[in-house]
Amino acid sequence: MSIEKKPEILSLSEDELAALLIADGHKKFRAQQVFQWLHLKQVFDVRKMTNLKGDFQDYLTEKFAFPDFRILNEVKSPSDQTAKYLFDFAGKQVESVWLPYENRQSICISVQSGCSLDCSFCATGKIAFKGNLTAAQILSQVYGMQQIYDRRITNVVFMGMGEPFYNYDNAIRAADLIAHQHGMNISRRRITLSTSGVLPGIKRFIEEKQPYRLALSLHAVFSDKRREIMDIEEKFSFEEVLEYLREHRGEMQQGQLMFEYIMIDGINIYPDDARELARWAKLLRAKVNLIPMNTEFNGMHRPSEEKIYDFWRQLVERDVVAVNRKSPAKDIQGACGMLAGRNHA
Ligand code: SAH
Ligand code: SF4
Repeated sequence: MSIEKKPEILSLSEDELAALLIADGHKKFRAQQVFQWLHLKQVFDVRKMTNLKGDFQDYLTEKFAFPDFRILNEVKSPSDQTAKYLFDFAGKQVESVWLPYENRQSICISVQSGCSLDCSFCATGKIAFKGNLTAAQILSQVYGMQQIYDRRITNVVFMGMGEPFYNYDNAIRAADLIAHQHGMNISRRRITLSTSGVLPGIKRFIEEKQPYRLALSLHAVFSDKRREIMDIEEKFSFEEVLEYLREHRGEMQQGQLMFEYIMIDGINIYPDDARELARWAKLLRAKVNLIPMNTEFNGMHRPSEEKIYDFWRQLVERDVVAVNRKSPAKDIQGACGMLAGRNHA
């Protein structure tokens, strides 16, 4: 065997796959056949790709690396239909969450094993950072969960472990592949990338006119406060990020941008916070997703229901579209910010 690393077949676009096949003397239409087996039917065993001849199957096995993952653990919620999966990619472990709703089927996937950032409220930031996933590994979470269930995945959020804009190429490549018409054909407006505010990634995303929804994890609208809870604020201040987005608002689609805002008791839910958050949300026409803090860290905790309601009301009264997001999967440590790769069966 050559020591050169084989290309991961799942990471390749249909055109890239076609180019490689043609260079080796195969017919172009084979690329679509193989692509559909992988991305539409989620079949990864070449012997089960029944419209391909044996010698072509051998060639594929010889030439490419096929998806290689194990699901180490599955935790199903006793109170709802959510489930959490612990994937292992050659020692890099990540978690992914299955989130059924009445009228849609969402999943939450990871882009890195751990996270290089360390937001004070997030469990992922507390574990060791093991690095980026490849596009194939990001996709394996989608396809691995789809293989388990009959229900078709309709929505995908890149809100699991890690920072998508510190793994920009692979995250966007994975999004492109699940949206591909010969693959799962998931609507681009139902794919959401969440960033803690990595400005170079945001700029690229806008410049490239990416069609996916963009969630900005704001969590505070005063820089000293934000610096206290998010280390990214030292690098890219939220004001710089929001100013940039304001200037380029015209290049984004309606409804493409939203803010994520964790409500932390005694920290970021004062009337001043509501006022500033509302001002920015209106300026940028961004919907606000309010998430009551899920975990207990460094003395930070979830506000009372009354305070949650009160903060929401202060936004809505200012004509901001704000949603008080319920956090499903809480009892399986699968809600936002709770993914820490713990193997608790
Ligand atoms: N790194 C990216 C994407 C993953 S985090 C980002 O930060 O945006 C996905 C979402 O979970 C973010 O909005 C994040 O702020 C939120 N989250 C993290 N910890 C949380 C907690 N303890 N309670 C509620 N939401 C949390
Ligand atoms: Fe990383 Fe996002 Fe968690 Fe912050 S909230 S530590 S950026 S995963």
